Amino acid sequence: MSLNNLRDLYQQVILERYKKPRNRGKTNPVDRYQKGHNPSCGDTIELTLKLDGDSDRIEDVKFEGEGCAIAMASVDLMAEALKGRTTAEALEMVQKFQAMMRGEAEFPQELRKLNVMQGVAQFPVRIKCANLSWHTLKAALELQQGVKPAGFVSNE
Ligand code: ZN
Repeated sequence: MSLNNLRDLYQQVILERYKKPRNRGKTNPVDRYQKGHNPSCGDTIELTLKLDGDSDRIEDVKFEGEGCAIAMASVDLMAEALKGRTTAEALEMVQKFQAMMRGEAEFPQELRKLNVMQGVAQFPVRIKCANLSWHTLKAALELQQGVKPAGFVSNE
């Protein structure tokens, strides 16, 4: 596949996710809640997580919010990829995604769907849009249960 076709494919996946997100809404119950904002583009997301306290696994992830196609596709893909992961694995995925945005890494086969965001690394102004969901997730995971979140996190 030529590089151009590959780029088109990435764009198609991003646009499709933007138009038909699969993980919109709120988890039940809400074990973690975190709002994230990307001032440079105006993207805002509200992330909710359902956790299994015994195994420390993420059972469900949902989001609400408004933003550009890249931000919305990124959070939708992230939500899907996180289901069944431990919180430690999720934090490793945050590192990996940020490294991918620097062009230094990509996800292994079982998480290859996340690699569609790789194309965004070529557009420095849009990297914050793609990173917003992961940045917000990190804040949500680092919150202690029952502690009220401190407003919203900004990735500026
Ligand atoms: Zn954006």
